[in-house]
Amino acid sequence: MSEFKSPYTTELELPGATMRSLVDQAMDRIVRYIESLPRQPAADVSGGAELARSVMEPLPEEGMPFDALLDRLFDNLVPKSFNTAGPGYLAYIPGGGLFHSAVADLISDSVNRYVGVWLAAPALSQLEATVIQWFAQVIGYPQEARGILTTGGSLANFSAVVTARRSLLPEDFLSGTIYTSDQVHHSVVKAAILAGFPERNVRELPSDDRFRIRPDSLQESISADRKSGYMPFLIVGSAGTTNTGAVDDLDALANIAKREAMWLHVDAAYGGFFMLTERGRKVMRGIERADSVTLDPHKALFLPYGTGSLLVRDGAALRRAHSLHAEYLPPMQDDPDLVDFCLYSPELSRAFRGLRVWLPLKMHGASPFRKNLDEKLDLTQWATDQLRLIPGIQIIAEPQLSVVAFRLFRSGLSAEELNTLNRTFLDKINAKKRVYLTATALGGDFVIRICVVSFRTHLDRMQAALEDIRSAVQESL
Ligand SMILES: *Cc1c(COP(=O)(O)O)cnc(C)c1O
Repeated sequence: MSEFKSPYTTELELPGATMRSLVDQAMDRIVRYIESLPRQPAADVSGGAELARSVMEPLPEEGMPFDALLDRLFDNLVPKSFNTAGPGYLAYIPGGGLFHSAVADLISDSVNRYVGVWLAAPALSQLEATVIQWFAQVIGYPQEARGILTTGGSLANFSAVVTARRSLLPEDFLSGTIYTSDQVHHSVVKAAILAGFPERNVRELPSDDRFRIRPDSLQESISADRKSGYMPFLIVGSAGTTNTGAVDDLDALANIAKREAMWLHVDAAYGGFFMLTERGRKVMRGIERADSVTLDPHKALFLPYGTGSLLVRDGAALRRAHSLHAEYLPPMQDDPDLVDFCLYSPELSRAFRGLRVWLPLKMHGASPFRKNLDEKLDLTQWATDQLRLIPGIQIIAEPQLSVVAFRLFRSGLSAEELNTLNRTFLDKINAKKRVYLTATALGGDFVIRICVVSFRTHLDRMQAALEDIRSAVQESL
């Protein structure tokens, strides 16, 4: 009997020994990589365009060995980046990236469970719902709050705008207007546009000298718009702006929202998890009165990129805004304690993001997260006090959370010359490659910021930052 020869293949199904070897080889590189983080440059993207071009190629017909691919990744591609995992990354909003979550992703992706519909993975859906309940508890939300894990803060802000719109506006909603400050994250404006509003319906009101919304001008703007026939429906406050970490007076915003029967959304993508600390709770007082809150676990909960979150105080509103029936789906359950995520989220098939949050919190409890955040608040205050001692340095924004903004000042220079001076000053700091700082514009001024969030950043790195800033000041004389 001639042997049957299948024209098909089973090569994508890896034998156990191969799986183990893949993970072992990858682990070897990963451990070396993570252990060397303190010695790696804080950012290095020189030759980036050329390197990016070297990755362009047509779909390969033949495969190549894993170890060669690993070498390529770790030796060539990964190092040419902002070192967002390292302790010297004090740019934008860092996070670090907990390794626990990488292990969780390995497990999630290997079991490949479906958490869009409760019935398909009841306990794993609940595990994600439990994570949402923990977040609700951190914010001070009631039992009936619901939420979703998203890919990031931008998508959370998007679902927040849609939820507010569908809760308060008629189907024809183009006269609906949105109020926020000129310090708002651009993802909020983008969310408004994606939700169907013309950009001109977003009122970016001038902020006060601490970069917070002025409640009186907010009230005036709302009243004026009502008189002109607009439908003011949404106020977006910030709990930690990206520019300076400014926190709006959330109680004042909640009072206005209540009086005006508007939706209050708080973008706490950066600041929200500082609610774990006593100082954070003081600064963000009133956040629990918001109708919805955006949190970014991939910032102040230190997760790797890819996890944001939206919480809605009245969970039913989130559901009404996102639920639709389809014949081909499994039946949804009707136990009020349980959640079918596809009814609360724009996504149907979705990654099982719950585990990457759940695992580190279950392994350590909240305490080391709280301590890390307290440390970041202390480090930022320490850096601010040190900066103040350097002749020529001006503090532009005192820390409200863990961002401080500053610039170099020389009398007799025009605004433009000062901006140029500070651009070069920033380049000089970053050229030392022990820390990576970024800048922003405040009232037309080029301003440098230090943002301390990563669980890998400690006093030794902040001392290095201050040394490098002091010598850059010397070089700028
Ligand atoms: C980072 C950030 C966002 C956007 O979140 P992504 O996770 O980058 O999509 C929105 N608002 C604020 C205040 C942020 O800091």
